[in-house]
Amino acid sequence: MSRVTTEVYNADEFRRMGHEIIDLIAEHLKKSTSNDAGNVNNWKTPNEQLKYWQTYPEKVDIKTLFSDIIFSANNLHNPKYIGHQVPPPAPAAALAAFLGSMLNNGMAIYEMGPQVTAIEKIVMNTFSFHLGYNSEADGFFTSGGTLANLTALIAARNIMSNNDVWEDGYAGEKLAVMVSSEAHYCVDKAARIMGFGNDGFIIIPVTDGYVMDTDLLQKHLDDNLKKGIKVIAVVGSACSTSTGTYDDLSKIADFAEKNSLWFHVDGAHGGAAIFSSKYKNLMKGIERADSVVIDCHKMLMAPALATALIFKNGKDSYKTFHQKAQYLWEKEDDLDWYNYGKRTMECTKLMMNLKFFVLFKLYGIDIFDEHVTALYDRGKEFAELVKTNKAFELAVNPQSNIVCFRLNNPTLTRDQKNDLNKRVRKFLLEDGEYYIVQTVLNGNVFLRTSIMNPFTEMKHFERLLQKIEDFVKS
Ligand SMILES: *Cc1c(COP(=O)(O)O)cnc(C)c1O
Repeated sequence: MSRVTTEVYNADEFRRMGHEIIDLIAEHLKKSTSNDAGNVNNWKTPNEQLKYWQTYPEKVDIKTLFSDIIFSANNLHNPKYIGHQVPPPAPAAALAAFLGSMLNNGMAIYEMGPQVTAIEKIVMNTFSFHLGYNSEADGFFTSGGTLANLTALIAARNIMSNNDVWEDGYAGEKLAVMVSSEAHYCVDKAARIMGFGNDGFIIIPVTDGYVMDTDLLQKHLDDNLKKGIKVIAVVGSACSTSTGTYDDLSKIADFAEKNSLWFHVDGAHGGAAIFSSKYKNLMKGIERADSVVIDCHKMLMAPALATALIFKNGKDSYKTFHQKAQYLWEKEDDLDWYNYGKRTMECTKLMMNLKFFVLFKLYGIDIFDEHVTALYDRGKEFAELVKTNKAFELAVNPQSNIVCFRLNNPTLTRDQKNDLNKRVRKFLLEDGEYYIVQTVLNGNVFLRTSIMNPFTEMKHFERLLQKIEDFVKS
């Protein structure tokens, strides 16, 4: 008998390992969220890390192996993790991901995931309702915000081009998208993947508040038209990645409607505000967007990846990869909503909607309101704290849970200030107690925090600022 059947697939062995590992992770979670959480990470250089795992033995027991993996992790459940926009997953959502991994129903076609196919449609209806769309809206889950933005823009391109791009290519037509200078770099990437080139990515400058300066849209459009470039879409950021500020979606919608452009919203991070009764006004105008992306693995407590892409007119979602068959879809029967592989980049796809659906069904939809609202409130509280300390300055008043600030000693030059803030960030990374990141705004280096962990409190922010001041003095 092979070990594959006696060990690898042995149900009793699985039960034993499972109990051991759940206990291990539960202890990890308990410690992480206690006052004795310890460091966020145990820093090693990339080469040290490589060496450690290269010499790691074989045939170890699962508890040792998993403990070592946990020890080497960047611990997102530690409240002093306030770096990138990645959440500490809710345990039930992680269990949903585990269940999805175990069942492994690929869901390209209905038979390969009957329940997740139905659930996907239900979850899309839930998103559509909160976005303010009517029953025409529809969409699907896909593997990350980057892929979702690309997919939406491919649909926009196929619909907006004067050519049948799917069949004939661009045939000399020059296409472009418009987006603010603070948009996530994946939008630029999407335009370039589609072959738009340098001219195909039109950058609209931002205001002092780091949001798209919508007054400049028309001029950029007209200038490009004169150059023979056809703008197909304008992309709003809700919110932008660096500063967490929201473009004025209503103004962009006005512009897009007036000029018959596709209006896409990258709400990978901040689209989740639609679930917050307090903050959903930041998304005002979203009901007029043709397509929108929302990452559940940012603000909605899901482990990566789980991204919703919703189209205001659900039929548009069928035009991404099958332009030629468009005439077929005139008949409602041919919109086989249950074969998601027709509309997604993926063939085999993870059962990712479970990561959202399970939280929704266990705790009710208002759990997302509680979570998003609390984290956005926390961003404002942290910003108030920064304002009371003369050693620091804010980049901008936060609208979300992303807060950018820096040491601002007025006696230093710009370069010296940038250097100082970079040194602070490097010190914090290698020290390991906190994890924060940095960003550059108008040539100035800022320390950047995303408050993703519901256990992060004022005392953690106070100690962070103190730690930075102590480092500067040392
Ligand atoms: C995180 C983010 C993305 C990228 O999403 P991934 O899921 O990491 O691929 C795109 N746009 C914005 C605004 C984001 O915050």
